[in-house]
Amino acid sequence: MIEFVSKECIDTQKEYMKNVRLKNEGTKKTAVVVTYGCAQNETDSDKLYAMLFQMGYEKGDDEKNADLVIYNTCSVRENAEVKVYGKVGTLKAKKKKNPDMVIGVCGCLMQQPHASERIKKTFPFVDMVFGTHVIHEFPKMLHHVLTERERVFSVDSVDGVIAEGVPVVYDKWYKASIPIMYGCNNFCTYCVVPYTRGRERSRKSEDILKEIHTLCEKGLKEVTLLGQNVNSYGKDLQDDLDFPDLLSAICEIDQIQRVRFVTSHPKDLTDKLIAVMGNNKKICNSLHLPFQAGNNRVLKEMNRRYTREDYLTLVSKIRAAVPDIALTSDVIVGFPGETEEEFYDTLSLIREVRFDNLFTFIYSPRKDTKAALMEDPRTYEEKLKNFNELLEVQTEICREANEAYLNNTYEIIDEGLSKNNSEMRQGRTTTNKVINYKARADVKEGDFVTVKVTEVMSWSLVGVQEC
Ligand code: SF4
Repeated sequence: MIEFVSKECIDTQKEYMKNVRLKNEGTKKTAVVVTYGCAQNETDSDKLYAMLFQMGYEKGDDEKNADLVIYNTCSVRENAEVKVYGKVGTLKAKKKKNPDMVIGVCGCLMQQPHASERIKKTFPFVDMVFGTHVIHEFPKMLHHVLTERERVFSVDSVDGVIAEGVPVVYDKWYKASIPIMYGCNNFCTYCVVPYTRGRERSRKSEDILKEIHTLCEKGLKEVTLLGQNVNSYGKDLQDDLDFPDLLSAICEIDQIQRVRFVTSHPKDLTDKLIAVMGNNKKICNSLHLPFQAGNNRVLKEMNRRYTREDYLTLVSKIRAAVPDIALTSDVIVGFPGETEEEFYDTLSLIREVRFDNLFTFIYSPRKDTKAALMEDPRTYEEKLKNFNELLEVQTEICREANEAYLNNTYEIIDEGLSKNNSEMRQGRTTTNKVINYKARADVKEGDFVTVKVTEVMSWSLVGVQEC
C-alpha cells in the first residue's frame, strides 16, 4: 500500500531544519554528498543538498575537509558496494581529528541488512545510516545527531512511501530530472532493486505537473522523467493518468520543448506509448530499452518476461513510428549458466538492432537475489573475453551510427563548456548525442543552438555553430 507522507510530517521537518540552521548560525559549515549509481540516487542527493542548504550548510569541494559527508550508495553493482566501504574507512582519521564532523551513509545499499550492519559494526564513527524511504526525515535525524550526540539508524522498512514537498535543488535551470515513480515489481533474478527500493509506487500526476510548472517559471526547457520502469506509471493509482497520457499532458506545457524518460521495460512498452512517441515532436527521439540478453533461455532465467522475438518486434514497431530514433540498451555478459553459444545470440541481437550505445556489464552476483544462487560454471576470464568481443562490435556500430550525422545540422541545448576541450562548448541532440562544438562568443548555457557536425568519434560528435 502506498503511504503519502502527510503535510504535517513535512512541516515538522521544516522545524528541525530551522533548529539546525540556528545551531549553525555564525559558523561556516560545508557539506559533501557523494552519489553512486543511478539518476534516482542523484535526485535523492539533490534533495539532501536542498535540505542541507536550508540548514545553513554550503556545498564543499572535498569530503576530506567537509563538516558533513554523506555517501549515497547503490546496491546494483558489487564494485559500487566495495568502493563505499573503502571511502568510509578513509574518513576515520578525519573524524578522530574533528569529532564534530558528521558522517552519514544512505541509499539503497543501506536497505540490505548485510551492508547496513557492516557499516554499523565496522565503522563506529559513522553517525547516520538511513535507507531510501526516509530521505524526507533527514532533518530530524541530523538534528538528533547534533543535539544528542547519538548515532541514528533508520533502515527497517521499504514499504512504499511518497513524500511530496521535500525541498530539492536542480543543477541546471533549463533541464531537470523528475522522478515520477519509485520502486519496481519485476524481480528480474539478478537485480536487487525490488528489495532495496520497494514495490512500484507512482506520484500523483497533479504533483508531477505542479513541479514541472514551477520549474517552467524559472526557465525549464527539457525534462527527463525517471522511474525504474516508467511504462508502469499509474498502474497503482486510481483515476489518474497512465504513462502515455502523462507524457501528452507534459507536452502540452508551452515552455517545455523536450521530454525524455528512462527506464522502459520492454514488456510494458505499449502500442499506445509508441503512438504518443510517434505523434509528439517534443518527445525526444531517443529511447533506452534494456534487453539484457539475446537468448530466450537466458531471458527466462533472468525473469525478463519477453523473448528475443518480442524484443525485435518491439524495436520494429518503434522504428516504424519514430524512424530516426536512437536506441540504447543495457546488456549483461556472463549471466549464471550462460554458455558461449548463448552469448553469441546476444551478439547477433546487437548486430541486428544496431544500438546507438550500450551499457555493458559482466554479471556480478547481488546478495538476496535468485541469480546469486544459480550455478555459474564459466570463469571470469571466459566472460571477460566475450565482454571484450562485444565491446569491439559495439564500438564499431557506434562509430557507424555516428557517421550518419556527418555534415548534417542539429538543434542542441547548450550545456556549457566542453568537458574535453575548454575552447569548445557542448550540448545534446534530441537523440541524446553529445556534440562538442565551436560556438560564437554570445552563446550562453541553456540556449538553443544549431550546430553542423564536422567530425565523428565513436562516442561523441564534433561540430561548429551554424550562423
Ligand atoms: S525491471 Fe528488473 S532490472 Fe529493472 S529495476 Fe526492476 S527488477 Fe531491476
